[in-house]
Amino acid sequence: MAAYLDTVPFSGIIRIRDMMYAVADPFRLDQGDVSFDAPDSVKTAMARAIAENKSHYLQTTGVPRLRELVAAKLRDRNRIPVDDPEHVLITNGGIHGLYMLCQALLEPGDEVLIPDPEWPPAAGNVLLAKGVPVGVPLYETRGWRYDLDELESKITPKTRVLYINSPSNPTGGVLDRTDLQRLAAIARERDLWVISDEAYEDVVFDGEHVSIASLPGMYDRTIPLYTFSKSYAMTGLRLGYVSIKDPAIRDRAKKVLFYTASNIASVVQFGGIGALEGPQDCIEAFRTELHARRDLFYRGVREFAGDVFSGQPPAGAFYAFLRIDPSWSSGGRGAASTAGAARPSPPPPSSRSSLSWAMTEYLIKNGRIGCVPGVDFGAHGEGYVRFCFARDRNELTGALQSMKALFGVTV
Ligand code: PMP
Repeated sequence: MAAYLDTVPFSGIIRIRDMMYAVADPFRLDQGDVSFDAPDSVKTAMARAIAENKSHYLQTTGVPRLRELVAAKLRDRNRIPVDDPEHVLITNGGIHGLYMLCQALLEPGDEVLIPDPEWPPAAGNVLLAKGVPVGVPLYETRGWRYDLDELESKITPKTRVLYINSPSNPTGGVLDRTDLQRLAAIARERDLWVISDEAYEDVVFDGEHVSIASLPGMYDRTIPLYTFSKSYAMTGLRLGYVSIKDPAIRDRAKKVLFYTASNIASVVQFGGIGALEGPQDCIEAFRTELHARRDLFYRGVREFAGDVFSGQPPAGAFYAFLRIDPSWSSGGRGAASTAGAARPSPPPPSSRSSLSWAMTEYLIKNGRIGCVPGVDFGAHGEGYVRFCFARDRNELTGALQSMKALFGVTV
């Protein structure tokens, strides 16, 4: 395993973070973090837990009250038939849940169908478990959804898991009920496990969020994965959960949980209890504000960089995954129109071969605008760039003004 880890790549997001540190007053649209703060219900519960000395070891699978509240939430909000809080395992955020599931489900060489483009830790966690990620394209022309015949054609005798992510990072695409019904039929016919990553369940602007685990019989073979990060603005606190019906898989996952964490931070779990027991209006308030920011950002991009970027506002999540005009080049139109900015330094090798890396480096170095190259999310993401519009309005406006300076004047 030790030498094998050398072959597992880091996400390009690490390289971008390093580049951003070299920029004064950056616009951090590269980070998938919300600008909101956790609600008072969370902060008060954590403060109380500290005052009450809740600083000791806990049950590995999570505080019983939190597991009960999560099971009730899964039943009431997600319509998943979780009839026992024992199914729920509390994790160190969604990324840890995904790690546990890949370890618990995969044998070396097992194939996992993942969307392309997709949040890089999906492939990374499959690789960590010595599985093989198999990309299935999402199409912009289909609202960033699959061609499901194509998905089916990728299944081989080695395919063990179908990982889906709706709403999607980075595309914002949302799978509709018909997509999920067909995916459910495929999973049943081909005897696949489904990992359903619903990190953005509460960020849907158009349509509805449906959990595939709520479809008849699907909870038997689906492990839904959630996080408090986005719904309650708790990204740094690290709290998530999975619900596993199958006792053998659950026992394996519990071992991974125990050996990697023993238990999730006590104070944070009490924060999670506060989140679920407290008023839920922050969820709606965040969504309304994100909707407004989505529209603000797309209006600005159309106005100031409409020649360079194109794309429809996403149905969910909080990313603008924009297509770069293929005729753009960092030494061409963009650079010539830069008002007062230094000419871009010669691009490193990767940006010579990748339009999305060339654009990312150009925007960071010349516009102070953080973003992530589409190719970092998979080969099918090449030619696109991802901006996070969950940053506050001032930061978004600043980034748009910077785009105006870079692209606004046509020559
Ligand atoms: N799934 C997806 C698709 C995500 O984008 C993220 C966060 N960026 C997560 C899961 C996990 O989030 P966390 O580890 O913060 O809970």
